[in-house]
Amino acid sequence: MTAFRTVAAPRLFGAGVAGIGLSLLPRSKYIYLRSSASSQKLSPHFSRYASRHYSISPSDPLYKSMEPFTYTQNPSRVIFGSGTLKQLPAELTRQNLSKPLLLSTPEQVSHAENVKSLLTDFTVAGIFSRATMHTPTEITDEALEYMKSTAADCLISIGGGSTIGLGKAMSIRTGLPHICIPTTYAGSEMTPILGETAAGVKKTRSDPKILPGTVVYDVDLTMTLPVGMSSTSGVNAIAHSVEALYATNANPITSHLALEGIRALAVSLPQIVASPQSPEARQLALYGAWLCGGCLGSVGMSLHHKLCHTLGGTFNLPHAQTHTIVLPHALAYNFPKLKPDVQKRLGDAFPDSNGDPVVGLNVLLDKLGVEKGLKAYGMKEEDIDKAADIAVSNPYANPRTVVRDEIREVIRRAWAGEPAKQDL
Ligand code: NAD
Repeated sequence: MTAFRTVAAPRLFGAGVAGIGLSLLPRSKYIYLRSSASSQKLSPHFSRYASRHYSISPSDPLYKSMEPFTYTQNPSRVIFGSGTLKQLPAELTRQNLSKPLLLSTPEQVSHAENVKSLLTDFTVAGIFSRATMHTPTEITDEALEYMKSTAADCLISIGGGSTIGLGKAMSIRTGLPHICIPTTYAGSEMTPILGETAAGVKKTRSDPKILPGTVVYDVDLTMTLPVGMSSTSGVNAIAHSVEALYATNANPITSHLALEGIRALAVSLPQIVASPQSPEARQLALYGAWLCGGCLGSVGMSLHHKLCHTLGGTFNLPHAQTHTIVLPHALAYNFPKLKPDVQKRLGDAFPDSNGDPVVGLNVLLDKLGVEKGLKAYGMKEEDIDKAADIAVSNPYANPRTVVRDEIREVIRRAWAGEPAKQDL
């Protein structure tokens, strides 16, 4: 894969969408219209292309009917490849920025120092290195106070979701441009979502202004991500794509990105465990993480993400590890209610699944050698009921009705570390 850049924008698709599109035209120069009514007969060329690239055969439900959809593609600029960090000075110049404030966790100060050393033609406003998981507002306030004395004109976050979260929190409060350099597979850099913790309560909001403007994916920076964290962070990314496939606003574009993202990670993560410094595996994983993050940023999430939010926020469980443990169980619960084409395509996306993605996920977690039970992270057995109560307290869209006692059993299995089964 050679290094590349993308810039994206919104689209509408479907029979009869012209009416909607025309009403939007004065407000957006990015609308492109296509009517499926005028192109229902697929050309032989397209059929060949589709079956080669997307595994769609004439018996596939997607081939025969596609429901109209609305797709808002988030407009961020992506620079992807190995050694792309060196393009940061050119990116700052392109945006006419001269005084960046660098953000990191305490563990990644050396990454921030490395960025600083590349910016000799700029005035680095400083390094704030106290980014913390779940974006506590007191840390954001501290960072803003520090920033005041520096007259920074932009923010550069280098790290995982914790550091990017701090960058988002500062950017939405100040209006400063935010450039992200992700070093995990969590995907926050591709979303307009910000979760912040105040007085121990985590609240999430979404605003297009939260979306970072530029993302520099440099595969080289992921080489230091420990194997265990690579595995759980990668499965965290897979979770975004799994839920994107059955979102109420799912559409063929995000579904395609989701399946490509799942495949890329399901193939590369075991290779990283076997060979952590493999440039090919690291590259494929980061590519998959980008696609999965894009899905999280584009469509709504369901049971799995709600459960992880509850478990992480209420019992202070680690983010990526919780996602990894819960995902097979949440999918096993939802799977019987998924559309047949989603069931099939999801099954096909996981190696060794034999058509069943729950089996595919169980096999993947075995290969990765990750922890399977939440009790290992300090969750107590008596917390299961509390978690089940919270999980059903606020209704949300989910393919299967969320029933309290069944969800309790989903949480119990995840707590105990049992293999996921579709028997509820
Ligand atoms: P993290 O950012 O907390 O990183 C975990 C640890 O790994 C940190 O100590 C970090 O410094 C270290 N690390 C990161 N990259 C490294 C590397 N390449 N080499 C060595 N060490 C490295 O972990 P995360 O899972 O990326 O992020 C979790 C946080 O992100 C949570 O707060 C979660 O809620 C949030 N998140 C938000 C979104 C969103 O869309 N808003 C999406 C995903 C995650």
